[in-house]
Amino acid sequence: MIEASIAACLLLFLGDFLSTFCYHVPEHVFGSLHLKTHHTSKQTFRHYAILTVNAQVLLDGILGALPYLLIAVPLWSYSPIGTVLGLLLGQLHVWWRHACVMNWQTPKIVAGLCHILFITTPEQHWLHHQKTTVGFGDIFTFFDAPARSWFRFLRLLRFQVRASGQKMAVRL
Ligand SMILES: [Zn+2]
Ligand SMILES: [Zn+2]
Repeated sequence: MIEASIAACLLLFLGDFLSTFCYHVPEHVFGSLHLKTHHTSKQTFRHYAILTVNAQVLLDGILGALPYLLIAVPLWSYSPIGTVLGLLLGQLHVWWRHACVMNWQTPKIVAGLCHILFITTPEQHWLHHQKTTVGFGDIFTFFDAPARSWFRFLRLLRFQVRASGQKMAVRL
């Protein structure tokens, strides 16, 4: 029971960490797929919850979920039940955090509990949908601040790479 709980928590923590810093934030800076599928005009719950056969939505969902699956491999030998539990909870959170589209309002007591446990509520995640520079950390809110710094750093890097590329082009 304890092993299963540790494995589930580790999967969610490390999965969210890798997904945020290796896919979500870099994709916001260098990519367009996630912006297109997740941050353009308001979509349906099924679209955000990846309950659709749209290839681009599925690809964005798979790339975002890939870190969780990679973490699941080593965790499996430690606790298969905990690994499955972590994956299930992660999937349930994907559905829950997009419930705002269906006018969901998190009960105050649940929101208070999430605040204590640093868990992202649908309302907090919805802030990210509305403004792409805030509300990172799909599952845990404590990834938001470092993710914003990572976002600013990568954006600066992109700017400098483009600027040096333009200088080279002028010289040629
Ligand atoms: Zn979302
Ligand atoms: Zn995003």
